Amino acid sequence: TPAAGGGAAAEALAAALAAVEAHEQELGRLDAVAGDGDHGQGIVRGLRAAVAAARGADPGDTADATGRALLLAGTALADAAGGASGALYGLLLTEIGGGLLEAGPVPVTAELLAPAVDAAFHAVCELGGGAVGEKTMLDALAPFRDTLLTHARAGTPLAAAWADAAAAATSAARATADMPAKRGRAARLGERGQGHADPGATSLALMATAVAGVLDG
Ligand code: ADP
Ligand code: MG
Ligand code: MG
Repeated sequence: TPAAGGGAAAEALAAALAAVEAHEQELGRLDAVAGDGDHGQGIVRGLRAAVAAARGADPGDTADATGRALLLAGTALADAAGGASGALYGLLLTEIGGGLLEAGPVPVTAELLAPAVDAAFHAVCELGGGAVGEKTMLDALAPFRDTLLTHARAGTPLAAAWADAAAAATSAARATADMPAKRGRAARLGERGQGHADPGATSLALMATAVAGVLDG
């Protein structure tokens, strides 16, 4: 792991950014099916700001260093991305960051991360007034969280736990194609989005998968 500013968090966010950059057009097209088409642009803009903010944090791979970098990154993402997903992704990062910061100068494990992701999931539900089953990012985040919690209980090493959670998010994001939209802009257009995956669920799965590629241990 490089000693660059922001440490592990910056490295993970940079990997997530590269993945959404590579899929920016596709995310925009998915959002245009039943939304306003700006999800690709918004998430790329937000993650660029998040990476820059994380790089400004002290380097380090401990839970508290990662937490501090994620707090800066989440705030920057929400400010830069705009839109529903910007506020929700920003909160997701700051909530996970806050949970890790509390743990102090210890290694980041699945056992530490799973409850932080669980708390972040609940915070995102509350802010957006959403729930699982409404064809949103929550439909990818919930199985990601569930898988991480299961592995945390089993004592699975973080990289393997995260990879499995990312795989669960990826299948769940694909499965949103079969769901009618009930939330966000897409809901106003009723069934029009059916047959296409939700853009937010898709970006969440892309980011989770990219982060899996840079985690070790
Ligand atoms: P906007 O809808 O403001 O243009 P984006 O296009 O960036 O924002 O993001 C759209 C995505 O945000 C949706 O695909 C969905 O996954 C997610 N989303 C929107 N509203 C909510 C909500 N209330 N709860 C959870 N996720 C939501
Ligand atoms: Mg949009
Ligand atoms: Mg918009």
